[in-house]
Amino acid sequence: MRISNFCNRFALRNLQFKMESVVKDYQKETKGLIQGKVLFDAPMRKYTSLRVGGPADCLLFPMDLKELRKIIRHARKKGIPVFVLGKGTNLIVRDRGIRGWVVSLTKGIKKIERDGEFLEAEAGCTLQQLVRFSIQKGLSGLEPFFGIPGTVGGGLAMNAGAWGAELKDVVHSVTLMKEDGEVMERSRSRLKFSYRRLNLPSSWIILKGSFRLKEGRREELIERLKTFSEMRKRTQPLDHPSAGSIFKNPKEGPAGKWIEEVGLRGFQMGQAMVSGRHANFIINLGKASAAEILRLIEWVEKEVYEKKGISLEREVKVVGEP
Ligand SMILES: Cc1cc2nc3c(=O)[nH]c(=O)nc-3n(C[C@H](O)[C@H](O)[C@H](O)COP(=O)(O)OP(=O)(O)OC[C@H]3O[C@@H](n4cnc5c(N)ncnc54)[C@H](O)[C@@H]3O)c2cc1C
Repeated sequence: MRISNFCNRFALRNLQFKMESVVKDYQKETKGLIQGKVLFDAPMRKYTSLRVGGPADCLLFPMDLKELRKIIRHARKKGIPVFVLGKGTNLIVRDRGIRGWVVSLTKGIKKIERDGEFLEAEAGCTLQQLVRFSIQKGLSGLEPFFGIPGTVGGGLAMNAGAWGAELKDVVHSVTLMKEDGEVMERSRSRLKFSYRRLNLPSSWIILKGSFRLKEGRREELIERLKTFSEMRKRTQPLDHPSAGSIFKNPKEGPAGKWIEEVGLRGFQMGQAMVSGRHANFIINLGKASAAEILRLIEWVEKEVYEKKGISLEREVKVVGEP
């Protein structure tokens, strides 16, 4: 009996040792793929504006297109799922986190260049940087997007919009990487934009957007920025973590109006709350879990449907292991 216990313990230790060494080899191989940063078990709450979400198996920051291509091809060869993260400002990552690789272009693929009336912005730069750049160059057209806290890649993927403008209105073309690493440019007329959506195969990555703008007077552009910025501060709960509007506005009118009418403004579940300032925002009061946020979203959907007969469609993307 004692001998068999010893043998079991020995076999278990041996197995543990083998598993640790497989994990070490895998981590070494993954890190060796690129010069950019590679993080294992990266807590996604640190990379999303709502500040919820469990760990991603691996978070990679390629420094250029060559590194991105390497990642994509390697993942494809090994059958590893890949998720492209922008600034995580339209995302709810579930508490169990994300299995597979998460790729962020925010460190290495973020150049902005001017070519006459066109601005070319790589996907990892922020919309905020792009708008500031356009103003510096005296180019008009991007001012309404000032204050949208995501990246150019995320903005294009979501066809982000504000104050009646959408990114599709100023896009000239988009450069994409397919799952085999091939890069191609698509003109605006060949892209299917709709309300908060660009219809692309889910494995394609947006690398760059080209935006066609107009000459403008710098002082006037700055005034416009101030106006948009003040409107945002007045209407949005910018003092708490959120993911922006949770729902798309249905054809019957703004989602926030219906949420208010069913009495849910300020409604709280645990540490998740429907904002008192803008009822289409759900805020994290500090320690909310993704599960609490999702329960609150489901409650809002149920109440609005039962009391108003309106089906709310989610604008936020929910990702991660259920
Ligand atoms: C306070 C606040 C205010 C907001 N106001 C607005 C607003 O006025 N208007 C508005 O439209 N939105 C708004 N948002 C939501 C959000 O900022 C936008 O949807 C933004 O465009 C998301 O960009 P992101 O980089 O954060 O994308 P993420 O949230 O990281 O990702 C969103 C989706 O885009 C995909 N994606 C990201 N990058 C790429 C890429 N390079 N290639 C392919 N797919 C990619 C992701 O896979 C994911 O499916 C707001 C959010 C907050 C927190």
